Amino acid sequence: MYIHPTALVETPHIGEGTRVWAFAHVLPGATIGKRCNIGDHCFIESGVVVGDNVTVKNGCMLWDGVTIEAGVFIGPGVVFTNDRHPRSPRLADAAGRYVGRDWLAETVVRTGASIGAGAVILPGLSIGEYAMVAAGAVVTKDVAAFSIVMGNPAAAVGWVCRCGTRLRVEEGRAVCGACGREFEGGAAGGTVRRAAEDAVHKLTPD
Ligand SMILES: [Zn+2]
Repeated sequence: MYIHPTALVETPHIGEGTRVWAFAHVLPGATIGKRCNIGDHCFIESGVVVGDNVTVKNGCMLWDGVTIEAGVFIGPGVVFTNDRHPRSPRLADAAGRYVGRDWLAETVVRTGASIGAGAVILPGLSIGEYAMVAAGAVVTKDVAAFSIVMGNPAAAVGWVCRCGTRLRVEEGRAVCGACGREFEGGAAGGTVRRAAEDAVHKLTPD
């Protein structure tokens, strides 16, 4: 484990082999797995859970209620959120809403997914296994496994292999030109979203 001397790490739950770089701040109650890389100026709040082998590039904000599964890539400047209709808890009109934790909407990023630079992830969402969120996307609804989403609001535009290469969709299946994996149910699934969901269940396992 390596913690840069200027990083503020207030949790003991940092896995072996993880590196936390300059001016990052990890609050008490956060958990970070093994062999992760946490870039400069990241903020990781209490309640965040980060799995093993996760890369968090510089300047990311991970708030309470965010769970990152193993192998996820989070590009620089990615912002998570956890409140669907935020008000200042110090505003008298809204303070009652923040007495408990009902306001908190949890988000999960599933194994192997990638989130591009500057993306914003709205609260209470699931980003599926190996999905890829384009840089600058504003994600407002769940992202299907293996799908590529981009834009504001983010929309599915294709699907992607485990290795990160965009899949070539042919009749009834999708093929990766880089690693050769084949995914059944590609074009036959109709929409990209449906195809991606099919892929989770039918694709050839590792
Ligand atoms: Zn591939």
